[in-house]
Amino acid sequence: MGAETPLGEGRPIKRRAGSAAGGQRVADSRPPLVDGRVVGSRCTECGYPSAQTGLPWCPACQRGEMVEEGFGPDGVVWSSARVQLRVLHREPPYTLAYVDLDDGPRVLARLLEPVVLPPGARVGILGTEDGDLIASTEIAKEPV
Ligand SMILES: [Zn+2]
Repeated sequence: MGAETPLGEGRPIKRRAGSAAGGQRVADSRPPLVDGRVVGSRCTECGYPSAQTGLPWCPACQRGEMVEEGFGPDGVVWSSARVQLRVLHREPPYTLAYVDLDDGPRVLARLLEPVVLPPGARVGILGTEDGDLIASTEIAKEPV
């Protein structure tokens, strides 16, 4: 038996430190908000919506091309949770929610109001803060 090779040495690793920790810049997985709409993409074959852009093929059907599209800004809460941990400058408590955008993908957003909302509650994406989507019950509209 030879000496153990330290984890990650001599082979590529999936985790990178990122620019905040002195490493290389890594892609931001959060979707941007442009002109009030969440920018993602949709499959030309099956219509699958994604909160990501630049996907090489459709993750649902593996056949279609993913074309950039704007979604929302309104949708319904799939799940929400009150967070009691400080993350960087964000003071607890605050609420994170997965929001199913109308005819669009599911996105993670911080709720403007620090309340847990039941699944199905209508919310609207009203902006971003440090790249995070911000949602609120204040501007939600009923779907047309
Ligand atoms: Zn597809």
